[in-house]
Amino acid sequence: MPPITPDDLRADTDFIDRLTQLRRDIHAHPETAFEEVRTSDIVATRLEAMGIEIHRGLGGTGVVGTLRGKRPGQRAIALRADMDALFITEETGKPYASTVPGKMHACGHDGHTTMLLGAAEKLAADPDFAGTVQFIFQPAEEGLGGARVMIEDGLFDLFPVDAVYGVHNAPKEPLGQVQTRVGPYMCAGDTWEVIFEGTGGHGAMPHNATDPTIPAAQFIASLAQIISRKVPSNDPAVVSVGHIGAGDYNSPNIIPSRVVVRGTARSYRPEVRDILEQSIGAFAEGCAQPHGVSARLIYTRRYPPLVNAAEEVARAVQAAGATVGADLVDAEAPLVGGSEDFSFMLEKVPGAYVMIGNGDGPDAAFVHTPRFDFNDDLIPIGVAYWMNVVAAELSA
Ligand SMILES: [Zn+2]
Ligand SMILES: [Zn+2]
Repeated sequence: MPPITPDDLRADTDFIDRLTQLRRDIHAHPETAFEEVRTSDIVATRLEAMGIEIHRGLGGTGVVGTLRGKRPGQRAIALRADMDALFITEETGKPYASTVPGKMHACGHDGHTTMLLGAAEKLAADPDFAGTVQFIFQPAEEGLGGARVMIEDGLFDLFPVDAVYGVHNAPKEPLGQVQTRVGPYMCAGDTWEVIFEGTGGHGAMPHNATDPTIPAAQFIASLAQIISRKVPSNDPAVVSVGHIGAGDYNSPNIIPSRVVVRGTARSYRPEVRDILEQSIGAFAEGCAQPHGVSARLIYTRRYPPLVNAAEEVARAVQAAGATVGADLVDAEAPLVGGSEDFSFMLEKVPGAYVMIGNGDGPDAAFVHTPRFDFNDDLIPIGVAYWMNVVAAELSA
């Protein structure tokens, strides 16, 4: 089977026009985590119309489509798209801008859903491959871990696969440029909270209070030492404070009895993640103890680090090269300092996550900002990439 190029797909102008309209329709009707009812209906209806077997309900609004190749094969792979939008007020001024106040597709998941539906349509029309493709449309990538919920609902028990692939647009990167890497790619994103509790009192007589503000301040200042002295020097990691809460704004003369410090912890390896959790607790305790103040850590593991498997990255790179040319493929991309719940899928099944440039023109905006818009010129590139992944995986 020769590779599919974006130009092959662009030649089918009706196909590209329909996908562009679909992308803009989803864009105009953004739905946030676990409420992707309309989007999920569109996905399910279209898959069914293509003759693809569908399963609904995993993760609430999740949809899985199953397509068997016309040639015999035992191998099965999954291709995944996310469907959810964000709580942001859109400022693109586009004719198809969000019609829902306070919500918008500011991460391009409208485009991800469209590209995978496009690939499903082409593959269903001529399933010239050996094995099975599972199309996964997942809810709630943004913060609430829809991928994890689909897995807990039995995703990989009901639809066992040998490999799983994910795509995200790369904002402000040259159109169609593919980036990926073997091993850790994106970081674990955890949140933590330390509650310092002691006794407060009159600000003029601090000796009568244990004063949790002092250990809290020492703790915040000590956080940088976790990175510089506990984490191995060749491992990137970040600990940041995002919230400090104590006392009453109207009472600067009263020492509070309780200080809450909240933050985020980012790491790329499970071992480093353990170091961060353990050290944040130990440093808080070490600062609090001499003052007779208690320190309690609540550490919440949210998204694990996203770790790509070597074999699947090789296939993804092969598919990307066939799609955009090897010159536009960077297989040793730098680490990305963000999190992505596709990492839950990669914990269960080997796979590869790639980013494809959304364009770097003057209007290009970063994801999660009010002026971001998925680039429709990326649609044929993404569809071709998906088709070439299937060719690379299931050509036997
Ligand atoms: Zn996002
Ligand atoms: Zn996203």
